[in-house]
Amino acid sequence: MRDDRSLPVRGHTILAVPRQRPSRIAAPSPVRRLAAAAGAPGANPAASADLAADGHDADEPSADVLADEAQDLTNGDLARAFHEIGDILEVQGEIQFKTIAYHRAADAIGRSPIDLVAAYRTGIAPKIAGIGQAIGDKITEYVTTGRMLYLERLRSEVPATLVELLRLPGMGPKTVRQVHEELGIEDMAGLKLAAQEGRLRTVRGLSEKTEKLVLEGIARLESEPPRRLYLHQAEEHIDALTTFLTTVPGVTSVEAAGSYRRRKETIGDLDLLAETTDPAALMERFTQLGGRPDVVARGGHKSAIRLHRGPQVDLMVMPPGSAGPYRLHFTGSKEHNVRLRAMARDRGWSLSEYGFQRIGEDGEILTGADAELKTFPTEDEAYAFLGLPFIEPELREDDGEIEAALAGTLPTLITKADLRGDCHTHSDWSDGREPLEVLVEAARRRGYAYQVITDHTQSLAIANGLTPDRVEEERAVIAALNERFAAEEAAGTAPPETPPEGFRLLHGCELEVRADGELDYEDDLLARFDVVVASVHVSRRQPRAELTRRTLNAIRSPHVDVIAHPAGRMIQARDDLDLDWEAVYEAAARNGTALEMNGSPHRLDLSPERARRALAAGCILTIDSDAHNTRELDDTRWGVAQARRGWVTKDDVLNTRSRADLLAWVGAKERRVSG
Ligand SMILES: [Zn+2]
Ligand SMILES: [Zn+2]
Repeated sequence: MRDDRSLPVRGHTILAVPRQRPSRIAAPSPVRRLAAAAGAPGANPAASADLAADGHDADEPSADVLADEAQDLTNGDLARAFHEIGDILEVQGEIQFKTIAYHRAADAIGRSPIDLVAAYRTGIAPKIAGIGQAIGDKITEYVTTGRMLYLERLRSEVPATLVELLRLPGMGPKTVRQVHEELGIEDMAGLKLAAQEGRLRTVRGLSEKTEKLVLEGIARLESEPPRRLYLHQAEEHIDALTTFLTTVPGVTSVEAAGSYRRRKETIGDLDLLAETTDPAALMERFTQLGGRPDVVARGGHKSAIRLHRGPQVDLMVMPPGSAGPYRLHFTGSKEHNVRLRAMARDRGWSLSEYGFQRIGEDGEILTGADAELKTFPTEDEAYAFLGLPFIEPELREDDGEIEAALAGTLPTLITKADLRGDCHTHSDWSDGREPLEVLVEAARRRGYAYQVITDHTQSLAIANGLTPDRVEEERAVIAALNERFAAEEAAGTAPPETPPEGFRLLHGCELEVRADGELDYEDDLLARFDVVVASVHVSRRQPRAELTRRTLNAIRSPHVDVIAHPAGRMIQARDDLDLDWEAVYEAAARNGTALEMNGSPHRLDLSPERARRALAAGCILTIDSDAHNTRELDDTRWGVAQARRGWVTKDDVLNTRSRADLLAWVGAKERRVSG
């Protein structure tokens, strides 16, 4: 774009109009916001004259300025525009599904590896989930004219600084509207002042308590560390990025490294490694990704960008034949690599991403004629150079894996293919979102031999827990489904994924451990379930002794087979239950009650550290999805990943066993407890 051209702006001629990005529509000038807030769009001649003199026009642009800016649009601009629409509609009190639709579309656009601006300009819109006709029309309007009249109209109705207040506790859309209308509050600073001065309580429905909440919320926002990605969010980004970057000419491979490859519970930055014959082309496309992201760093073989409302992504090009040390270096962990470097030094080498370089007596890397570099195309070979076998990424934390590797005692880690069933799933009989019939069909297609349906029990009313009567009804439905499966298997019409032992639904429940420690069903009802999974959901703030007593009560029951999500944690959202863990492991091992590794990326509970301790204490584990819809059935992959981080093998996990063995184990619980 030209930086030296004269452009006519509202009758003036301004020299050297600076390149404006993001475009006007994506970032309203403060002047426009103020004007809009004052209820008089564009009505501030003094301010606009000031800005014009400064070289920034603040008023209605001419058609060709807009057309020029439209040329410059990116996916990021589109995403920002739709998030803004969603936010403004929320403040206006628009019905929720409408606001969610805009945010969802914005997320889809932000993540899309396709240059949507270019695509929509061709007139053939790509099919993208979450982008329907109405939103597609707005994209077309925006990319062809540089304007989105709908957004401009909304902006004239609600200032952006007001929309931001939605992030505070106690500030719902209706309240934001009220404080704006009644107190003239425009932004966070204004709200803070009003709360400090005790003026919020003059608004109907608000009180001293609201003021306290707001001030606490502002303080927290000011001090908050940036949120990290959950594993499934990191996966979505990585899938989209690798799919896109693989299409760049010259690229032969793109893979994830870093903490995602090690499957840490949460992920900060994403690290990608690529092999290509044309690094320049790859760096060019990467730093233009989805239009134009924030470029953090740019080089010939390494660049970093920050995705809109997303993480930073580092991309490194691996030199041919050097993938081994590159993968080691960028996978980490730092602690694991420190150990490897020390081992290399002991052998007279310096280890970096480039490979092993000879060092001299003084420990410095040799140069000139003495220089020597050994590098390897695979990690196996790089480890072998240090006298080590391959170490799985999930183990690379310097938590005993080097010693085990040297001693030849590394575990053979469990894989997802080892799972023969899922012991914790919810249908719409309780709080699942899909009918039993739909959920079970999806489980059958996964090649399982069994799926335990564990709808919630009666006292968990919020999750539509089942009364004993409804349990009986559900049992009948399950029996009928199993009859059908048996008939299909006999007739050879069952899904091809069906294992030789066939597939059966098992009737279970997620049994509530009540606040007083009592179990939510009578013993005779519990005895009739195939599998009982028990959990603590309520009264989580009790003292440690009380919480431990409740958990032990479930563990010792002759009818409880699995303790679900034992720590009750929600990653980045809710603390663990305060339990005497050693007592829990000991009782679980002695009574033969399995402890769950819950696969929900928000839970991942047991944590790997606890799983490892539990195994050392002699416990057995399950790895379950806790699915509330068919898509979440695959959350077992995160459970397996955490199990691998906890050194778990196939033999440590109950649901790697056949259905007959599982049922035999369940059937023996009563004997284990009394014996
Ligand atoms: Zn639960
Ligand atoms: Zn559950």
